[in-house]
Amino acid sequence: MKFQRIKGTKDILPSEVYRWQYVERIISEILENYSYKEIRTPAFEMTELFSRSVGTDTDIVSKEMYTFLDKGKQSLTLKPELTAPVIRSFIQNHLDQVAPVTKVYYLDALFRQERPQKGRLRQFHQFGCELVGSEYPEADAEIIKVVYDIYKELGIKAMTLRLNSIGSRNSRRRYLDVLRDSLKPHLQEFCAACQQRLEKNILRLFDCKAESCQSILDEYAPSILEYLDDSDLEHFESLKNLLELVNIDFTVDHKLVRGLDYYTRTTFEITSPLLGAQDALCGGGRYDHLVEDLGGKTTPAVGVAAGMERLLLALDELNAFPPEDLHPLYISTLGERAREIGFKLRAELIESGVESEMDFLRRSLKAQMREAGKKGANWVVIIGDSEIDRGVVILKNMTDSTQTDIPIDSASQKIIKAINR
Ligand code: AMP
Repeated sequence: MKFQRIKGTKDILPSEVYRWQYVERIISEILENYSYKEIRTPAFEMTELFSRSVGTDTDIVSKEMYTFLDKGKQSLTLKPELTAPVIRSFIQNHLDQVAPVTKVYYLDALFRQERPQKGRLRQFHQFGCELVGSEYPEADAEIIKVVYDIYKELGIKAMTLRLNSIGSRNSRRRYLDVLRDSLKPHLQEFCAACQQRLEKNILRLFDCKAESCQSILDEYAPSILEYLDDSDLEHFESLKNLLELVNIDFTVDHKLVRGLDYYTRTTFEITSPLLGAQDALCGGGRYDHLVEDLGGKTTPAVGVAAGMERLLLALDELNAFPPEDLHPLYISTLGERAREIGFKLRAELIESGVESEMDFLRRSLKAQMREAGKKGANWVVIIGDSEIDRGVVILKNMTDSTQTDIPIDSASQKIIKAINR
């Protein structure tokens, strides 16, 4: 085969698409119940949008972006995350003038040049939502509650919510100085990447996967929670209280800082033991400065992004998909006259909202019946010359194999009545 799909990408085949549609439907329904509206942004943006928002020292911007020059020599990037494009759109389209609080969600593809493995792709999909315009913990709690509801509705019970506050920029600045002073004496004990992080972007040390680095942090890094100012603390306490009120369990993890530059105060992640090494179902947090950093007015905001492929993997583990809704009715015909009658009958049934399928290979009646069985049809309409001569079509109930003659005249209405009985 000459053409293969690109490493780290996946075909979602017809036999799998119904699972995606099922999950997408539940996601949209729940988000819309919470009054979020869908937003769709372009597949690529100016590269600077991401370097400015996500941060030049992050893995995403420094290593993983698909960046190219267009014919006008403009540097563009396939979106590697979805918050920055949504905020760019929020500012550009003056969504703050439509309502004081903007609530949007997305279901979209994104692109990161990562090392592919189970649950980690180069083109993958996320759903997520952003609540822009509120600084209050009710907003953070709602964002967490929405994803929680979605996972619960889909049948995921085993999940852990880790929660942290990394403070406002001011309190974080104080913390970072203390952190640097505490870790500097141990510089040589960290991995090479962390040694650089310590100089360039020290908070990112917490994201390191190496156990040796984590144990140095456990021993010597002070907790960011001890450096929060009063209003950060009050915000965090209030968020925890709201989560308790709606029975959402969480564990506070002071090392959860998340990889991007734009977070302030709340950060959170939900993991599931149903997944393997890549166990994060979703992550999010508050980003009170992103709107102004991207050229808008100072506007607080909070959001979450959740991996679709990981969610589907978890649901596969649970066997949580309902069976595929196959074609409930199959029309099998034999001969030219029957084909015409069948074709017209099927068009009428579809117009009346009855999903149905027919044969496109002019196969024998036996082969068509086999096909109907394979497609999971509950009903088969059989039309041949002898039926036409008798002025009927046969409606076969595939569950109990009973057959009924249905007069050809206005057959579609009579069939609908019979199958809905
Ligand atoms: P992030 O945008 O990195 O915070 O990721 C949010 C969620 O997207 C994660 O919790 C994962 O569920 C999912 N995710 C992130 N990176 C990938 C990837 N390369 N492949 C598949 N899913 C991913």
